[in-house]
Amino acid sequence: MRTSLDSRRNFLKFFGTTTLGLAVAACAGRAAREEVTAAELALIRRTGTLPIVTWSPSATERDAVLRRKAALAGRLRRRDLERLDVLMRATLKVSGGVGLAAPQVGVSRRIFLVELQSEPRRVVTCVDPRIIERSREMVDGYEGCLSIPKVGGKVSRHTSVTVSYTTLDGKRVTYVSKGWEARIFQHEYDHLDGILYVDRLKGPLLPYEEIRRLRKAEKKPGKQAALDPTATPWAVM
Ligand SMILES: [Zn+2]
Repeated sequence: MRTSLDSRRNFLKFFGTTTLGLAVAACAGRAAREEVTAAELALIRRTGTLPIVTWSPSATERDAVLRRKAALAGRLRRRDLERLDVLMRATLKVSGGVGLAAPQVGVSRRIFLVELQSEPRRVVTCVDPRIIERSREMVDGYEGCLSIPKVGGKVSRHTSVTVSYTTLDGKRVTYVSKGWEARIFQHEYDHLDGILYVDRLKGPLLPYEEIRRLRKAEKKPGKQAALDPTATPWAVM
């Protein structure tokens, strides 16, 4: 009989030792003010949803859209920006994720969506965002990515961040995000610099069912909520 340990070993063998440290070359330097390409416009002018670009942790290509530093959104015309927003919102909705960055749908622009975690839940569009402040305090949590299907892993993130971004109406706003929501902002922001959560893993990549089991096993009665993995919703983004 195959044990869960066997399947975990096979899984790790399949993915090798992941891609730790591969990404960061992509994020050196400032984001470019590139002209909009014909390929980008072809995607933006579609209707319905956009296919999500996926990545295998054993892949080595460095110029793929998920590994590039995305260009500033500033060069996109307002109408195209709004079209892209409609497509990304529809894509996020059907994906079941809590956040989505434009490179995940093949558009290498500095735009992402985050579902705010306070009630009423709403999705904000952040154009040319910058994280202008990060808490010194860090917290571990499990993350999954829509671009890396069926697996997840533990990542350490700042417990709060201050994000400055432009809205679709062209207003520059500053927003302070805490807890699980701050994790989503950091995950999406990384996408704009070609960084994937697998570059920040604390431990192995695991199949979803293994993460569910671990979160259950780690639960301790009376444990501080922020440190209790079961207190943190597990989601992909
Ligand atoms: Zn992701």
